[in-house]
Amino acid sequence: MSQRLSAKYLLPLLPLPLLIGCSGAANGVPQQPTTQTRYCAQQGLVLQTLGTGGPIAEGNRAGSSNLVWIDGKARFLIDAGPGLFLRYGEAKADFNDLDAILLTHAHGDHVGGLPGLFNSGSFAQRGRALMLIGPKGDANFAGPAELRDRLVGANGALPYLKGFVDGSEEKPVLQISAIDVKKRGLQPVLRDKGIEIDAIAVHHGPVPALSYILRYQGQMIVFSGDQSFMSDDFVAALKDSKPDILVMHNVISMAAGQPRGLHRDGTAIGEAAAAINPKKLLLTHNMKRALDDGPAVMTAIKSSYKGAVTMANDLDCFIADPK
Ligand SMILES: [Zn+2]
Repeated sequence: MSQRLSAKYLLPLLPLPLLIGCSGAANGVPQQPTTQTRYCAQQGLVLQTLGTGGPIAEGNRAGSSNLVWIDGKARFLIDAGPGLFLRYGEAKADFNDLDAILLTHAHGDHVGGLPGLFNSGSFAQRGRALMLIGPKGDANFAGPAELRDRLVGANGALPYLKGFVDGSEEKPVLQISAIDVKKRGLQPVLRDKGIEIDAIAVHHGPVPALSYILRYQGQMIVFSGDQSFMSDDFVAALKDSKPDILVMHNVISMAAGQPRGLHRDGTAIGEAAAAINPKKLLLTHNMKRALDDGPAVMTAIKSSYKGAVTMANDLDCFIADPK
């Protein structure tokens, strides 16, 4: 017998508690089902939730990111949180098909996956430009131009990837679109062969932040982004717009002392959803404190919103129904 024992031979030797301890459901953290590769490519408009977790590493959810598939191609990425590298590959998304990265804001759990995506995408050798869209920055939060330059610019952290700025080595030039968060109401972001994307500035404490609205062939998905109950403009602009999917963030519990100046609690999610009246309300950006308080959060949502509520897990596919 070989001196190197294979795992097959070692496994029966491990004590039972050690085997149980490896199951991944430790510490009482609500886990999402084990992620499996899922392929969402099909005709029409499909939302794939790549990362459905929050900023704290506390379970098996990746940081915030969403992929929009249109007629079988992964065309748009909404946020690029940590874990994107893994989930993007599991989703079988092709970097050559990507038209734009749309960032809701520059918190680390929404942009931390960009370096890995750019490094991975540098192997694609696509010449076509790639749009990088986000809110205009300030002293504490980088706008899309600053993110590009500080990550892959000649004087950035990864200067060997400067092809994303100057187009060398067949890398796609990152075309910047910085959205003014001081403007109110819908702002056009992108128009391309029946695809319409607009942004609305939202209130997320001191952070320049956006929501995005994507329309295609009569279908509509709204990405709320991180926002507090003070995002009146978001609700007013989308009142009774009946999107196929309204994506909102399940970040805080119903307890006192939660950061309601940054995020909507269940009551505020329900009030916004009741006004916007989506076919499906999808909860993502799920933090442990909100999941632990799940029944109270759900009761608060349903006190004003009577429609369907779905919890998103990483790599889930949601098909916008054709009208
Ligand atoms: Zn945030």
